[in-house]
Amino acid sequence: MLSKSINIFKALCRRLQNPRLYYKLFKIANYTKKREILHFSPYRYRVLEKSISKLRNSKKININKFLESSVSQSNLVKTNNKKNNVYLRIDVDYQACVDNLSPLLNFLTSHQINAGVYIRTDCLEYDPSDCKKVIEKFKNKFEFGLHTSCYRKENYVYYFEKELNVFKKKLGFLPKSFSVHGYGSKYSQRRNDFYQYVRNNIGNLGSISFFDCGDILRPYQYVIQDCHLVEGRRFIYDDFLFPPDFLNNTNILILLHPCYWVDK
Ligand SMILES: [Zn+2]
Repeated sequence: MLSKSINIFKALCRRLQNPRLYYKLFKIANYTKKREILHFSPYRYRVLEKSISKLRNSKKININKFLESSVSQSNLVKTNNKKNNVYLRIDVDYQACVDNLSPLLNFLTSHQINAGVYIRTDCLEYDPSDCKKVIEKFKNKFEFGLHTSCYRKENYVYYFEKELNVFKKKLGFLPKSFSVHGYGSKYSQRRNDFYQYVRNNIGNLGSISFFDCGDILRPYQYVIQDCHLVEGRRFIYDDFLFPPDFLNNTNILILLHPCYWVDK
């Protein structure tokens, strides 16, 4: 009973120390609760089109380039206090993502939307060489990097370096950024250990100068994603159509997997 009261007291103190942050978290939690399922996959591009139009029409939202060509701390976190910054990331998880990547990038290009595109080189789902053509076609328009799953192994540092080497061998260049493949709650301790490793080694990760994992360089306060799961079916919430523009100075990630999107 006493320890419960102490915990409540501690939580209250944390809120009093940073009321703005807690107000933000409270608003986001409320917003999250009210979301409704919009569609089950496959989703149509026209949903994305509507979403882009909503984002563009919001006075409180900037759609940003995923990564500036010269990476520095100054462009990782935008400092505009009034607007919310939206970033779009595409994780190429499965063979169907590879198959659908080019049309999705064509679509985004036609809407002047920039994104970071992240390719797996663990060779568990597809041969990364299959992405070579699409990278060559779009390399000047999008940021292409590594989608790592190295923490599935105990010696994740070895596997991270191995994935970087395979990236270079199969795709012809070393990536300057990476994103992290999710396994839900599986390997969560090792995932945290890997985040700690990258936190300790910023500036010493070879070609890598940016990653958006672990709230280290660019924390996202809200993620709009296309891979919610219920009874084996993927779905999107209506946050695609009602982006959270009620906050200030928040980073929002839109996370897409090409395998769930179709043009027709
Ligand atoms: Zn992934």
